[in-house]
Amino acid sequence: METILLLAHTEPDGTLAKPALEALTAALELSGGLTIGLVGGRTSPAAEQIAGCGAGRLLAVTGEAFSQPRYATDAAAGEALCRASGSAIVLAPATSRWARALPGVALRLGGRIDTHATRVALENGVPAVSRWFYRQRMEAMLTRSQRPWVVLLDPGCVPAWNGPAGTAQVEAVEVNPPQTRTTVTGLRAPQTDEQTIRPDARLLFVAGAGWTKKQADGAVHGAEAEALILGFLRAAQASLGGSKSLVDLSGEGEAVLRFMSHLNQIGQTGSTPRHAKGLSTCCHGEEPHVVGWRFINQRRAINLDANCGWARGKADVLYVADAFAVMREVNRLIGPQSD
Ligand SMILES: Cc1cc2nc3c(=O)[nH]c(=O)nc-3n(C[C@H](O)[C@H](O)[C@H](O)COP(=O)(O)OP(=O)(O)OC[C@H]3O[C@@H](n4cnc5c(N)ncnc54)[C@H](O)[C@@H]3O)c2cc1C
Repeated sequence: METILLLAHTEPDGTLAKPALEALTAALELSGGLTIGLVGGRTSPAAEQIAGCGAGRLLAVTGEAFSQPRYATDAAAGEALCRASGSAIVLAPATSRWARALPGVALRLGGRIDTHATRVALENGVPAVSRWFYRQRMEAMLTRSQRPWVVLLDPGCVPAWNGPAGTAQVEAVEVNPPQTRTTVTGLRAPQTDEQTIRPDARLLFVAGAGWTKKQADGAVHGAEAEALILGFLRAAQASLGGSKSLVDLSGEGEAVLRFMSHLNQIGQTGSTPRHAKGLSTCCHGEEPHVVGWRFINQRRAINLDANCGWARGKADVLYVADAFAVMREVNRLIGPQSD
């Protein structure tokens, strides 16, 4: 097997986050000579965290200049680590930081890059990656002859490495921070009242535009919709998704579901999250939305319309029912008052 470099950037506390530990699992499964390259303001907590993983070498680019995500500094650090390790395969988690910097690094090294890999494995003795094309409609397995071959592994595809911490021998790689025109001045999150996206939740709860439509009594029940959805999310610790119609409404400043932003949108022009189960409510189940459910294993939907899209083979179970009534009862059963 060829030599492998796992590239990982550290978090503000100097440790590695879950996507990096998942990429470490994938790198170990390739069973080649493994080098780990760390980048960050602090790297020794990360080195200690993965000391027991069995990597042959541990390299690190450390310093204040490398603590913030920024193309120029991340690309310089990535390039230096690739050159220092001389590895043929470079594996990294598909964080926004690496997704931005590593294509440029591959170009500088005369190599190639593949993004959104969902699996990396040996096929017929050579490394191969799986990835989905055309918004998750087709899966392909591909391999390349060019080296170095940089692969960005999507989060949530393999278990995170979970081995013993210890003390580690780290080789420092010196990089002169390049001149930068970008200064990170802070973080700005979308205007939502509450954190509702939980990638690790077992359940995805999807709200559709029906929550904001006139109901049987001829009135809109926005406040109750908010209370029912937030009550369920808190009790079930579920992640919240939305249909495009609903998040567009929220974005236009309508007085509905204030915790919803475009980050919640599931579908062709939204996200394709991975959860064990999904529950869709007040959403019609049209194809551009349902394509975002590709990786949801068990799908259920609640809709008043027995002819909605979910009824056409897109859900495992369709409850033809009023979602307000169903969620009121579900919240009563699982909410704190039922303890
Ligand atoms: C190029 C393109 C890309 C797109 N990308 C996306 C995408 O990424 N994501 C996405 O979501 N959409 C996408 N769309 C839009 C998509 O086709 C639909 O328009 C959208 O998903 C509809 O949202 P909805 O089902 O919430 O709303 P609606 O179609 O308005 O459906 C509301 C549903 O709520 C039900 N309902 C109402 N009250 C209740 C109640 N009390 N109990 C139970 N059910 C109730 C109604 O029966 C109805 O079925 C895209 C479209 C195009 C053309």
